[in-house]
Amino acid sequence: MKKNDLKSLVKQMYNDLLTTIESQEQPNKDEIIHYLEDAVLTIQSLNPDRLDSAEHTKLAFRDAHEEIAKSSIAAYKSTNKRFEEITSMQEKTLHESAFIDTDNIKDKFENIQTFMAQEVQKANDIIAELTEKVSKLEKTSNLDGLTQVFNRRALDHFISNLCKKKNLQHDLHLLLLDIDNFKSINDKYGHITGDKILIFISNILKKTLRDGDKLFRYGGEEFIIILNRIDTQTAKLVARRILNLISNNQLIYKGNTLKVTMSIGLTKYVTGDTPDEFITRADNALYESKHKGKNQFNVELFNGV
Ligand code: GH3
Ligand code: MG
Ligand code: MG
Repeated sequence: MKKNDLKSLVKQMYNDLLTTIESQEQPNKDEIIHYLEDAVLTIQSLNPDRLDSAEHTKLAFRDAHEEIAKSSIAAYKSTNKRFEEITSMQEKTLHESAFIDTDNIKDKFENIQTFMAQEVQKANDIIAELTEKVSKLEKTSNLDGLTQVFNRRALDHFISNLCKKKNLQHDLHLLLLDIDNFKSINDKYGHITGDKILIFISNILKKTLRDGDKLFRYGGEEFIIILNRIDTQTAKLVARRILNLISNNQLIYKGNTLKVTMSIGLTKYVTGDTPDEFITRADNALYESKHKGKNQFNVELFNGV
């Protein structure tokens, strides 16, 4: 066998072997061994006279086999190493998440809960404190919260002081005013509109007053005006003017025109009146106004004077 023939045979076998290996994604060690054994058999059947050449061929195959084996093992090792890394990473993650889930997260939630409970408690304390302050203010305040005119408390105080005076040198009149059909206004347009009407009417009433006169919110839709230093005739003019102002001022609500009217009861203070007697006369006069058809005033004087 010529040296060149042998070389080309070995080359051919070597190339075959590489092709076989490359065609497989994961070179199978057994297949390679099998292939090499075949090659060895081929070589062993060569002419013994040229043994040196045959030995050379065997060596070539053995080297090739070693190369393949080495790279296969290296590839396996690297894959295995990567797998180990991934496994350890997963273990670590699992371990960490297990740790957070159980102890850490629980602790954190408990901390947040404690913090929130403390904050809620603080807020409740502040609310309680403010509520107390507001109720104290309401008790000591002389103003009505909605209309900002004097309230019932201020009225009681004012009238009881007045009735203590034995000889008042000038005339003093009281007007008790009540919005007509206010319940049906509330029912038709809502309570908030009702409140706005109360504010609107208070503002009109305030404008009609002179210095020395006083306006109070007596109850829900009832007001009291104290007219100071005017005679009954002038007090009647004031009552009439108020009725005109209220009924002429029309409120527009959602495209509807609201017509609001009031009824008034008028009386004059007499020395010796108790607060109750003074207000009751005005109340009787108001009742008459309602009874006679509303949007009007009537007068009740002590003993007709
Ligand atoms: P009358 O003409 O006989 O006076 O009839 P009225 O409907 O005005 O009188 P009534 O006493 O039947 O009803 C008074 C209404 O006033 C009932 C109540 O809901 C309403 N009211 C009282 N206070 C307020 C308030 O602060 N805001 C509002 N929106 N309504 C109030
Ligand atoms: Mg009323
Ligand atoms: Mg009314």
